[in-house]
Amino acid sequence: MDGLEACPELQPHLMQVSPAAGSPLTPARAFPTLAGFPDKSFTESPMKRILLAPLAVLLGLLLSACGQECDKPAATSGDSVPQKTYHWKLVTTWPKNFPGLGAAPENFARIVNDMSNGRLQVKVYGANELVPAMGVFDAVAGGAAEMGHGAAYYWKGKIPASQFMTAVPFGMNAQEMNGWLHYGGGLELWRKLYAKYNLVPFAGGSTGVQMAGWFKQEITSVADLQGLKMRIPGLAGEVFQRIGGVPVTLPGGDIFTALQTGSIDATEWVGPYNDLTFGLHKVAKYYYYPGWHEPGAMLEFIMNQSAWDSLPPDLQAIVTHAARAVNQDMLDEYTARNNAALKELVDKHGVQLRRLPDDVLAALRSASDQVISEVIAADADAKAIYESFDAFRRDVEPYTRISEEAFLQTRQAP
Ligand code: CA
Repeated sequence: MDGLEACPELQPHLMQVSPAAGSPLTPARAFPTLAGFPDKSFTESPMKRILLAPLAVLLGLLLSACGQECDKPAATSGDSVPQKTYHWKLVTTWPKNFPGLGAAPENFARIVNDMSNGRLQVKVYGANELVPAMGVFDAVAGGAAEMGHGAAYYWKGKIPASQFMTAVPFGMNAQEMNGWLHYGGGLELWRKLYAKYNLVPFAGGSTGVQMAGWFKQEITSVADLQGLKMRIPGLAGEVFQRIGGVPVTLPGGDIFTALQTGSIDATEWVGPYNDLTFGLHKVAKYYYYPGWHEPGAMLEFIMNQSAWDSLPPDLQAIVTHAARAVNQDMLDEYTARNNAALKELVDKHGVQLRRLPDDVLAALRSASDQVISEVIAADADAKAIYESFDAFRRDVEPYTRISEEAFLQTRQAP
């Protein structure tokens, strides 16, 4: 519902408004379709824009003057309905107020609350506040929470195809992943996949290329990985197992203790900004790159389908654009903060920064191709999603090579 429907008694006034009665004021609150989500009827011709823009401004002023009366049910006529307020619970797989990853749900809640003027109020719950980290999917699918934030590959035991929505070893970086999702059909496939579980997914932020991880011992060859217990989820965990490692899936909040107590020997997490916050340098000194396993880890917002359907179109538009804004914002923040954190890790904490040996990377690459082939052979959804993913990657790669890659090489030249 918009302001016009809420105050139908104002409609006769519109017929008397002159286009000359313009104002520089922009009544965003009373006229949300003009503020952020233009109606095609206002933009289809320049003449209509010229005539209707001042009219719309005056309409906004009239609606503002109407004020609280619009929000109250009409006492006699019954034709004025108060705007409904929605209260959503957003459960996450991250510790409460965790930087970077955990900033996304907090930012989403704030933006939605601001843009909807409080009509959609989202309360964020960290891992274990309402449900355990790994209980987010079921909580939102079942309706215990309207919304969740996490990573699709956490649900690989339930949905093998979900792994391709987060990270594919040696796959696409953040820029390419966003291109595939929003302009290459990826998001449509994701929605089709999750519809079976009563869920509507949205891209929920990318960390960019991650670090390969923290190791207690130096890695000089594939032999050093034999029997090594490493926290490494998703497809990468399967790959790690193929070359002799022992993969473990743990939520972020459990990693430090597991590494400290020796129940794992190594871990990947995110990158310098988040890893510094967890204090992983205190329990492992070798920090390896590149993040072969998560070249652009994409997180997810998930909405309960019924909760999503219950929102009026303007609140659905606010949710959609808030998710898109938060998705990009995460990459911006990591780009800004990772470098300073890495300097602190190396210069202040004496972390040993290392590149994975070429033979280790080659073995991981070979095992990745094998694992992906097996996963898509065993699951039709995984096959359909990976075929779309891989076709986009093959299309985009030649241009990435002569644009981003060529430029970065040029920039490094003396
Ligand atoms: Ca990771």
